[in-house]
Amino acid sequence: MMRDMKIEPTVIVIFGASGDLTQRKIIPAIYNLFIDGLLPDPFCIIGIARTASDDEMFRQQLRKGVDAFSRRGKSKEEDWSKFAANISYTAADYHDEKTYKSLLEELNKGWYKSANKVLYLATPPTLFTEIVEQLGQQEVFRGKTSYRIVIEKPFGRDLESARMVNQVLTGVFDEGQIYRIDHYLGKETVQNILAFRFANAMWEPIWNRSFIDHVQITVAEKVGVGKRGGYYEGAGALRDMLQNHLLQVMCLVAMEPPTSFQADEVRNKRVDVLNAIRPIGKDEVEKFAVRGQYSKGVVDGLSVPAYREEENVAADSGKETFVAMKLFIDNWRWQGVPFYLRTGKHLPGRVSEISLQFRPVPHHPFTDKVMQSNRLAIQIEPKEGIMLRTQAKEPGPGMKIKPVEMHYTYQEVFQSSSPEAYETLLLDVVRGDPGLFMRNDQVETAWSVLESVLEHWEETSPADFPNYAPGEWGPKSAEELITQDGRTWLVPACLEFDRKEGRKT
Ligand code: NDP
Repeated sequence: MMRDMKIEPTVIVIFGASGDLTQRKIIPAIYNLFIDGLLPDPFCIIGIARTASDDEMFRQQLRKGVDAFSRRGKSKEEDWSKFAANISYTAADYHDEKTYKSLLEELNKGWYKSANKVLYLATPPTLFTEIVEQLGQQEVFRGKTSYRIVIEKPFGRDLESARMVNQVLTGVFDEGQIYRIDHYLGKETVQNILAFRFANAMWEPIWNRSFIDHVQITVAEKVGVGKRGGYYEGAGALRDMLQNHLLQVMCLVAMEPPTSFQADEVRNKRVDVLNAIRPIGKDEVEKFAVRGQYSKGVVDGLSVPAYREEENVAADSGKETFVAMKLFIDNWRWQGVPFYLRTGKHLPGRVSEISLQFRPVPHHPFTDKVMQSNRLAIQIEPKEGIMLRTQAKEPGPGMKIKPVEMHYTYQEVFQSSSPEAYETLLLDVVRGDPGLFMRNDQVETAWSVLESVLEHWEETSPADFPNYAPGEWGPKSAEELITQDGRTWLVPACLEFDRKEGRKT
């Protein structure tokens, strides 16, 4: 968040450079930073992967990615050739120490020597620790602030494995040199939660258990697992989405006001929330967490396979494609306020939204028997914005009350497309600001919150899978998780608007 910092010349080394993430996210993001004039001069990108290729073929492959995935659409020839002149490729073996020796020799020559050096691990996670150890055998990185290492998700698959990766990383780098990505934290609307809460005096006095009945966080995908079945079989919705994105969003909604936006101040406040989450005993998992898996069905008129029929998925897989949880935060602000979290695949639309449902008015002198309580919806995707539902008098005789919405979208207000999360995050790495990245204690505490659920689910196979059809909001048990408390899941506001206006989501 240190936007005005001077940026030193930078070399970005990408391990796993022939992969999907590099082509779809990393390079389009760096390209957009280049177009916006935000990259230092000089800068360069060195791609490393096993695939045999050369600089020119690699550049062509990356351009295809930019043309297909950049928020700006196709690249212009002149812009691309200026950008591409800074890119090179090395085919190498991750297991061979020569790979690291020659890389580090190169990084100690010419202008690279005094430049910032970003080492980006965009490989499968099984290679993370080996690459870090191999790097560590060639050079002492600790204390050299010009070196930064970026780690992609998933960061471990449980508390023990996350600790193990952290141990290897912190054995070679100082914590301040390590940037663990949770790309949700780079999203504009996610960062806007902080601006919305702490730059407006009106919210803080009511942002607590006295006024808020409960909070819902929904991250829904309309698609199924598609070609990622192999990866998903090792992950599932709890590990893939809830442990990182949903818990981090929850932290931003629930945290105490920071005294500044210094990286560690905000991260301390976020980790305080995780530490205050009420532990779930192994014998009470079913009261707080439910899982689902999609069956075959029809989406937008087309037949889609069941999860168990997807490529690289076991025919009797017990992996969850949906999870819903109820969490409590045991502190003064949130005591007794449930946070309901849900995420899954093949849900009714692609949407990420936080809803704060306010308590009903203490007394209402109106004739309407049922009045909707105020609701604040923070929309993260696909239409970034904020919606506040209040009550108004319907024009006409008598005092008839009707809910009305005050609503803005980023697109309407700021008239420009928001930078992609990866642009924000990569710029922060280049500038040396780790505030939007996960610190080791955050990752480990997030895993420990879910440990009992992970263990219970590993030990008990779900007898009712598949238990929801594509296009449904998960299984019946997800409904029961909230209705047993006398509440209901709210339809995300942007799906409601689309439905009212007859748009497909
Ligand atoms: P890929 O499967 O495309 O792998 C990246 C590169 O790593 C490949 O190009 C390949 O290059 C190399 N690689 C693959 N398997 C092996 C292996 N067994 N041994 C050695 N090298 C191998 O992954 P993604 O690009 O999709 O993802 C990279 C990282 O980013 C992963 O950790 C993933 O979890 C994470 N991520 C990815 C997202 C995405 O949208 N793709 C989103 C969020 C996180 P080569 O064969 O040339 O060596």
